[in-house]
Amino acid sequence: MRKKGVVVKFLSNMAQVQDYETAEIFLCKLRGKFKEQKIRPIVGDIVEYRVVHGKDGVIENIINRRNELKRPRIANVDQVIVVVTLKKPQTPLKIIDRYLVLVENAKLPLVIVLNKTDLLSDEEIEFFESIYSRIYKVLKTSALKGDGLDELKMVLKGKISTMAGMSGVGKSSLLNAISPGLSLKVNEISEKLERGKHTTTVIELLHLEFGGWIADTPGFASLDISGINPEDLKKLFPEFLAYDSQCMFGDCEHINEPNCAIKLAVEKGTITETRYQSYVEMFKELTEGK
Ligand code: GDP
Ligand code: ZN
Repeated sequence: MRKKGVVVKFLSNMAQVQDYETAEIFLCKLRGKFKEQKIRPIVGDIVEYRVVHGKDGVIENIINRRNELKRPRIANVDQVIVVVTLKKPQTPLKIIDRYLVLVENAKLPLVIVLNKTDLLSDEEIEFFESIYSRIYKVLKTSALKGDGLDELKMVLKGKISTMAGMSGVGKSSLLNAISPGLSLKVNEISEKLERGKHTTTVIELLHLEFGGWIADTPGFASLDISGINPEDLKKLFPEFLAYDSQCMFGDCEHINEPNCAIKLAVEKGTITETRYQSYVEMFKELTEGK
Protein backbone atom coordinates (compact mmCIF):
# COMPACT_ATOMS: atom_id res chain seq x y z
CA MET A 1 0.00 0.00 0.00
CA ARG A 2 1.28 3.43 -0.89
CA LYS A 3 1.45 5.95 1.89
CA LYS A 4 2.28 9.64 1.96
CA GLY A 5 5.15 11.21 3.83
CA VAL A 6 7.63 14.07 3.94
CA VAL A 7 11.34 13.70 3.28
CA VAL A 8 12.92 15.09 6.46
CA LYS A 9 16.57 14.16 6.03
CA PHE A 10 19.08 12.26 3.92
CA LEU A 11 21.48 9.65 5.19
CA SER A 12 23.95 8.90 2.43
CA ASN A 13 21.69 7.58 -0.32
CA MET A 14 18.66 6.87 1.79
CA ALA A 15 15.87 9.25 2.62
CA GLN A 16 14.20 9.51 6.00
CA VAL A 17 10.52 9.78 5.27
CA GLN A 18 8.10 10.80 7.99
CA ASP A 19 4.59 9.50 7.54
CA TYR A 20 2.02 12.24 7.08
CA GLU A 21 -0.48 10.68 9.45
CA THR A 22 1.44 8.71 12.06
CA ALA A 23 4.72 10.71 12.09
CA GLU A 24 6.59 7.39 12.04
CA ILE A 25 9.97 7.52 10.33
CA PHE A 26 10.88 5.12 7.52
CA LEU A 27 14.28 4.78 5.93
CA CYS A 28 13.55 4.71 2.22
CA LYS A 29 15.49 3.74 -0.86
CA LEU A 30 14.94 5.75 -3.99
CA ARG A 31 13.59 3.79 -6.88
CA GLY A 32 15.67 3.55 -10.01
CA LYS A 33 13.29 5.59 -12.08
CA PHE A 34 14.29 8.80 -10.29
CA LYS A 35 17.82 8.39 -11.59
CA GLU A 36 16.57 7.87 -15.13
CA GLN A 37 14.38 10.95 -14.88
CA LYS A 38 17.29 12.88 -13.35
CA ILE A 39 15.01 13.94 -10.52
CA ARG A 40 15.97 13.36 -6.95
CA PRO A 41 13.90 13.99 -3.91
CA ILE A 42 15.06 16.79 -1.63
CA VAL A 43 14.17 17.62 1.96
CA GLY A 44 10.58 18.86 2.11
CA ASP A 45 9.38 16.74 -0.77
CA ILE A 46 6.02 15.12 -0.27
CA VAL A 47 6.43 11.56 -1.49
CA GLU A 48 4.44 8.40 -1.95
CA TYR A 49 6.28 5.48 -0.42
CA ARG A 50 5.78 1.81 0.24
CA VAL A 51 6.86 -0.08 3.34
CA VAL A 52 9.07 -3.03 2.44
CA HIS A 53 9.43 -4.45 5.92
CA GLY A 54 9.71 -3.01 9.40
CA LYS A 55 10.90 0.58 9.08
CA ASP A 56 12.38 0.14 5.61
CA GLY A 57 10.61 1.49 2.57
CA VAL A 58 10.89 2.65 -1.00
CA ILE A 59 9.97 6.05 -2.41
CA GLU A 60 7.77 5.49 -5.42
CA ASN A 61 6.72 8.95 -6.45
CA ILE A 62 7.49 12.60 -5.75
CA ILE A 63 4.44 14.85 -5.62
CA ASN A 64 4.95 18.03 -7.67
CA ARG A 65 6.86 20.64 -5.71
CA ARG A 66 4.97 23.82 -4.97
CA ASN A 67 8.23 25.69 -4.58
CA GLU A 68 11.88 25.16 -3.86
CA LEU A 69 13.94 27.31 -1.56
CA LYS A 70 17.62 27.53 -2.51
CA ARG A 71 19.30 28.17 0.83
CA PRO A 72 18.68 25.97 2.67
CA ARG A 73 17.49 23.74 -0.15
CA ILE A 74 13.97 22.72 0.89
CA ALA A 75 10.86 21.96 -1.14
CA ASN A 76 7.30 22.99 -0.32
CA VAL A 77 8.05 25.69 2.22
CA ASP A 78 4.72 27.11 3.36
CA GLN A 79 6.03 30.15 5.19
CA VAL A 80 8.99 31.92 6.71
CA ILE A 81 9.01 32.97 10.34
CA VAL A 82 11.17 36.07 10.63
CA VAL A 83 12.33 36.27 14.24
CA VAL A 84 13.52 39.67 15.42
CA THR A 85 14.42 41.38 18.68
CA LEU A 86 14.80 45.01 19.68
CA LYS A 87 17.23 44.25 22.52
CA LYS A 88 19.97 41.67 23.17
CA PRO A 89 20.62 41.70 20.26
CA GLN A 90 18.93 44.63 18.59
CA THR A 91 17.91 43.71 15.06
CA PRO A 92 18.36 47.01 13.16
CA LEU A 93 15.18 47.97 11.29
CA LYS A 94 17.08 47.98 8.01
CA ILE A 95 18.15 44.39 8.65
CA ILE A 96 14.53 43.42 9.40
CA ASP A 97 13.50 45.05 6.12
CA ARG A 98 16.19 43.12 4.25
CA TYR A 99 14.83 39.83 5.57
CA LEU A 100 11.33 40.87 4.58
CA VAL A 101 12.41 41.86 1.08
CA LEU A 102 14.25 38.57 0.59
CA VAL A 103 11.24 36.54 1.68
CA GLU A 104 8.95 38.61 -0.57
CA ASN A 105 11.37 38.02 -3.43
CA ALA A 106 11.12 34.27 -2.82
CA LYS A 107 7.32 34.71 -3.03
CA LEU A 108 6.75 33.09 0.34
CA PRO A 109 4.24 34.14 2.99
CA LEU A 110 5.83 35.41 6.18
CA VAL A 111 5.03 36.04 9.80
CA ILE A 112 7.14 38.31 12.00
CA VAL A 113 7.90 37.15 15.53
CA LEU A 114 9.08 39.85 17.91
CA ASN A 115 10.83 37.80 20.58
CA LYS A 116 12.26 38.81 23.97
CA THR A 117 9.28 41.04 24.70
CA ASP A 118 10.13 40.52 28.38
CA LEU A 119 12.96 43.01 27.81
CA LEU A 120 10.71 45.65 26.24
CA SER A 121 8.40 48.36 27.54
CA ASP A 122 4.87 48.70 26.18
CA GLU A 123 6.00 51.79 24.27
CA GLU A 124 8.81 49.89 22.58
CA ILE A 125 6.43 47.12 21.53
CA GLU A 126 3.89 49.67 20.26
CA PHE A 127 6.62 51.40 18.26
CA PHE A 128 7.48 48.12 16.56
CA GLU A 129 3.86 47.25 15.88
CA SER A 130 3.13 50.69 14.48
CA ILE A 131 5.61 49.93 11.70
CA TYR A 132 5.01 46.27 10.95
CA SER A 133 1.52 45.23 12.09
CA ARG A 134 -0.09 47.14 9.27
CA ILE A 135 1.87 45.16 6.70
CA TYR A 136 2.39 41.71 8.20
CA LYS A 137 1.12 39.43 10.90
CA VAL A 138 3.22 40.17 13.98
CA LEU A 139 3.43 37.81 16.95
CA LYS A 140 4.90 38.98 20.22
CA THR A 141 6.71 36.28 22.15
CA SER A 142 8.96 35.67 25.08
CA ALA A 143 10.58 32.26 25.00
CA LEU A 144 11.80 33.04 28.50
CA LYS A 145 8.39 33.80 30.02
CA GLY A 146 6.32 31.62 27.71
CA ASP A 147 4.32 34.50 26.26
CA GLY A 148 2.76 34.25 22.81
CA LEU A 149 3.71 30.61 22.32
CA ASP A 150 0.17 29.34 21.65
CA GLU A 151 -0.16 31.84 18.82
CA LEU A 152 3.19 30.70 17.42
CA LYS A 153 2.07 27.07 17.56
CA MET A 154 -1.11 27.93 15.69
CA VAL A 155 0.91 29.59 12.93
CA LEU A 156 3.27 26.61 12.59
CA LYS A 157 0.78 23.77 12.99
CA GLY A 158 0.54 21.44 10.03
CA LYS A 159 2.93 23.46 7.86
CA ILE A 160 6.50 23.32 6.63
CA SER A 161 8.23 26.46 7.85
CA THR A 162 11.67 27.89 7.98
CA MET A 163 12.94 30.48 10.43
CA ALA A 164 15.02 33.48 9.57
CA GLY A 165 16.65 35.92 11.93
CA MET A 166 19.96 37.02 13.34
CA SER A 167 22.00 34.87 15.64
CA GLY A 168 20.89 35.16 19.27
CA VAL A 169 17.31 36.33 18.71
CA GLY A 170 15.98 33.13 20.27
CA LYS A 171 15.10 30.80 17.41
CA SER A 172 16.30 27.65 19.21
CA SER A 173 14.76 28.81 22.49
CA LEU A 174 11.37 29.35 20.84
CA LEU A 175 11.42 25.91 19.23
CA ASN A 176 12.36 24.26 22.52
CA ALA A 177 9.58 26.14 24.28
CA ILE A 178 6.87 25.02 21.85
CA SER A 179 8.17 21.51 21.20
CA PRO A 180 10.34 20.47 24.18
CA GLY A 181 11.15 17.09 22.68
CA LEU A 182 13.45 18.81 20.21
CA SER A 183 15.96 19.64 22.98
CA LEU A 184 17.94 21.96 20.76
CA LYS A 185 21.03 23.43 22.28
CA VAL A 186 20.55 27.12 22.73
CA ASN A 187 22.43 28.71 19.83
CA GLU A 188 22.35 25.42 17.97
CA ILE A 189 20.62 26.84 14.91
CA SER A 190 23.02 29.74 14.67
CA GLU A 191 26.01 27.44 15.11
CA LYS A 192 24.78 25.41 12.18
CA LEU A 193 24.73 28.58 10.22
CA GLU A 194 28.33 29.39 11.07
CA ARG A 195 29.40 25.91 10.08
CA GLY A 196 27.31 26.26 6.94
CA LYS A 197 29.59 28.98 5.69
CA HIS A 198 32.42 26.54 5.26
CA THR A 199 30.82 23.18 4.74
CA THR A 200 27.65 21.87 3.27
CA THR A 201 25.33 21.40 6.20
CA VAL A 202 22.98 18.48 6.27
CA ILE A 203 19.54 19.99 6.26
CA GLU A 204 16.88 18.46 8.39
CA LEU A 205 13.23 19.15 8.92
CA LEU A 206 12.41 18.95 12.60
CA HIS A 207 9.01 17.57 13.47
CA LEU A 208 6.99 19.73 15.84
CA GLU A 209 5.11 17.67 18.38
CA PHE A 210 1.81 19.48 17.77
CA GLY A 211 2.12 18.88 14.01
CA GLY A 212 4.23 20.52 11.32
CA TRP A 213 7.88 20.78 10.40
CA ILE A 214 10.56 23.40 10.75
CA ALA A 215 13.95 23.56 9.06
CA ASP A 216 16.91 23.27 11.41
CA THR A 217 18.92 25.75 9.33
CA PRO A 218 17.86 29.39 9.17
CA GLY A 219 16.94 30.86 5.81
CA PHE A 220 18.14 34.02 4.04
CA ALA A 221 21.12 34.16 6.36
CA SER A 222 23.46 35.79 3.86
CA LEU A 223 21.08 38.77 3.60
CA ASP A 224 22.29 39.00 0.01
CA ILE A 225 19.92 41.10 -2.10
CA SER A 226 22.16 41.32 -5.16
CA GLY A 227 19.95 38.93 -7.14
CA ILE A 228 17.05 41.38 -7.03
CA ASN A 229 16.37 43.50 -10.07
CA PRO A 230 16.29 47.18 -8.91
CA GLU A 231 13.07 47.83 -10.86
CA ASP A 232 11.39 45.00 -8.98
CA LEU A 233 12.42 46.19 -5.52
CA LYS A 234 9.32 48.38 -5.06
CA LYS A 235 7.09 45.36 -5.56
CA LEU A 236 8.70 43.75 -2.53
CA PHE A 237 7.30 46.48 -0.24
CA PRO A 238 3.63 45.46 -0.05
CA GLU A 239 2.49 48.79 1.38
CA PHE A 240 3.76 50.60 -1.73
CA LEU A 241 1.33 48.75 -3.95
CA ALA A 242 -1.71 50.91 -3.20
CA TYR A 243 0.13 54.09 -4.30
CA ASP A 244 2.27 52.80 -7.13
CA SER A 245 -0.18 53.65 -9.93
CA GLN A 246 -0.64 57.21 -8.61
CA CYS A 247 2.88 58.42 -9.38
CA MET A 248 3.31 60.82 -12.26
CA PHE A 249 5.51 58.38 -14.14
CA GLY A 250 4.42 54.82 -14.66
CA ASP A 251 7.95 53.57 -14.09
CA CYS A 252 8.57 55.84 -11.09
CA GLU A 253 11.48 54.63 -8.99
CA HIS A 254 10.17 56.65 -6.03
CA ILE A 255 13.57 58.28 -5.53
CA ASN A 256 13.98 61.62 -7.33
CA GLU A 257 10.88 61.87 -9.49
CA PRO A 258 8.42 64.77 -9.04
CA ASN A 259 4.84 64.07 -7.89
CA CYS A 260 5.76 60.71 -6.43
CA ALA A 261 2.79 59.21 -4.59
CA ILE A 262 5.08 57.11 -2.41
CA LYS A 263 7.08 60.12 -1.20
CA LEU A 264 3.82 61.93 -0.53
CA ALA A 265 2.54 58.95 1.48
CA VAL A 266 5.76 59.02 3.53
CA GLU A 267 5.23 62.73 4.25
CA LYS A 268 1.67 62.02 5.33
CA GLY A 269 2.80 59.12 7.46
CA THR A 270 0.73 56.48 5.70
CA ILE A 271 3.98 54.80 4.65
CA THR A 272 6.51 54.55 7.46
CA GLU A 273 9.63 56.64 7.04
CA THR A 274 12.02 53.88 8.11
CA ARG A 275 10.54 51.48 5.56
CA TYR A 276 11.00 54.07 2.83
CA GLN A 277 14.59 54.70 3.98
CA SER A 278 15.26 50.96 3.73
CA TYR A 279 13.85 51.01 0.22
CA VAL A 280 16.07 53.91 -0.84
CA GLU A 281 19.14 52.31 0.69
CA MET A 282 18.54 48.95 -0.98
CA PHE A 283 17.72 50.62 -4.28
CA LYS A 284 21.01 52.53 -4.20
CA GLU A 285 22.90 49.39 -3.30
CA LEU A 286 21.35 47.57 -6.26
CA THR A 287 22.00 50.36 -8.76
CA GLU A 288 25.47 51.39 -7.57
CA GLY A 289 27.98 51.36 -10.39
CA LYS A 290 25.33 50.35 -12.92
P1 GDP B 1 19.22 31.68 18.23
O1 GDP B 1 20.65 31.98 17.93
O2 GDP B 1 18.32 32.58 17.45
O3 GDP B 1 18.85 30.25 18.11
O4 GDP B 1 18.99 32.12 19.77
P2 GDP B 1 18.99 31.19 21.07
O5 GDP B 1 17.72 30.46 21.20
O6 GDP B 1 20.24 30.39 21.07
O7 GDP B 1 19.02 32.29 22.23
C1 GDP B 1 20.09 33.20 22.39
C2 GDP B 1 20.06 33.74 23.80
O8 GDP B 1 18.86 34.49 24.03
C3 GDP B 1 20.08 32.65 24.86
O9 GDP B 1 20.91 33.08 25.92
C4 GDP B 1 18.63 32.58 25.33
O10 GDP B 1 18.51 32.13 26.65
C5 GDP B 1 18.17 34.02 25.18
N1 GDP B 1 16.72 34.14 24.94
C6 GDP B 1 15.97 33.44 24.05
N2 GDP B 1 14.69 33.82 24.09
C7 GDP B 1 14.60 34.80 25.04
C8 GDP B 1 13.52 35.62 25.52
O11 GDP B 1 12.35 35.53 25.12
N3 GDP B 1 13.83 36.54 26.47
C9 GDP B 1 15.10 36.71 26.94
N4 GDP B 1 15.31 37.65 27.86
N5 GDP B 1 16.14 35.95 26.51
C10 GDP B 1 15.89 35.02 25.57
ZN1 ZN C 1 6.89 57.27 -7.18
